[in-house]
Amino acid sequence: MQTQICEINGQSLKMAKHILESEGAVAFPTETVYGLGGDARSDAAVAKIYEIKGRPSDNPLIVHVHKDYDITQLIYDEQTYAAALRKAFLPGPLTLVYNSKGRVSSKVSCGLNTLAIRVPSHVGAQRFLRYVDMPIAAPSANISKHISPVSAQHVYEDLQGRIELILDGGRCSGGIESTVCDVTGEYPVVLRAGLISVEMIASVVGRCEIYIPRGGEQVRSPGMKYKHYAPHCKTRLFDASELPLAVSEFERLSAEGGKIYVLCSEDIKNKFPADRVLNLGKTEHEMAANLYELLHEGEKCAETIIAILPKKKDGVMAGVINRLSKACADK
Ligand code: AMP
Ligand code: MG
Repeated sequence: MQTQICEINGQSLKMAKHILESEGAVAFPTETVYGLGGDARSDAAVAKIYEIKGRPSDNPLIVHVHKDYDITQLIYDEQTYAAALRKAFLPGPLTLVYNSKGRVSSKVSCGLNTLAIRVPSHVGAQRFLRYVDMPIAAPSANISKHISPVSAQHVYEDLQGRIELILDGGRCSGGIESTVCDVTGEYPVVLRAGLISVEMIASVVGRCEIYIPRGGEQVRSPGMKYKHYAPHCKTRLFDASELPLAVSEFERLSAEGGKIYVLCSEDIKNKFPADRVLNLGKTEHEMAANLYELLHEGEKCAETIIAILPKKKDGVMAGVINRLSKACADK
């Protein structure tokens, strides 16, 4: 199968709709990462998405809709606070998990009675979702466990030959996946940190907690138990407090002749040779936006990436730390 990368225009949208109506999958841009979308109502289309990615079959998908889509078609019992969150943050990088009406393929939620819904703000994503006019189930458009794609080229590198069409909407501005927030209970519970922080959610509805799985309990967001976002090269992970250790590890590995790169924030980059630094930047939003781009760049040139976690751990940085820790867990 030939894989085409096309700008979003009348012709490519027509092609996308045709592929989706034939129960195929299309890659499309969002403000977080690129998605691999299929018709959420079709068992065959959803099964194909899992197959293309090699995704574990118990890791549910998020359904994407345009901003005027009536989500009450798909979900029950929206709580007042959930409507307030929608009003405050959507369209945008926040996924809400509701009680499902079961109107989409049961494979989307892997048999759970909930459904994750997202309304992306990316102009190209909105145009695509409105044009195809169907709920689109979409995980990130990469091979399962590899780094998420933030450009059409990244999607191509992972999925060439496996899909027909990549809609190119440029580099994703947000850079990490959406915040996933369960809104089925009395108050919101964040299952996966992201660009809409726990603090931002709490500021709108008063209370928000972070889900921490208890021993013996079935994990509420199945995706959390899997290894994720990893580059193909070796990685070493250090906390900000272990900087001297990271420096000596960099020196030791470099002395052995390895091509060692360091992924770190702007404030500590001077501890390493400039041509070996993958600079995440200064602010939490910069670091989120740069993270996957730099991991993609790093895996192409490094034998080992030494990643150093930023000092700040709250706000949007909670999402950055979560992804960076999973990507670079020592291996
Ligand atoms: P990805 O498609 O790779 O961005 O991952 C989607 C994330 O949303 C995973 O962490 C899933 O576990 C989570 N998710 C999707 N649907 C649900 C659901 N119904 N309940 C809880 N988590 C969900
Ligand atoms: Mg993913």
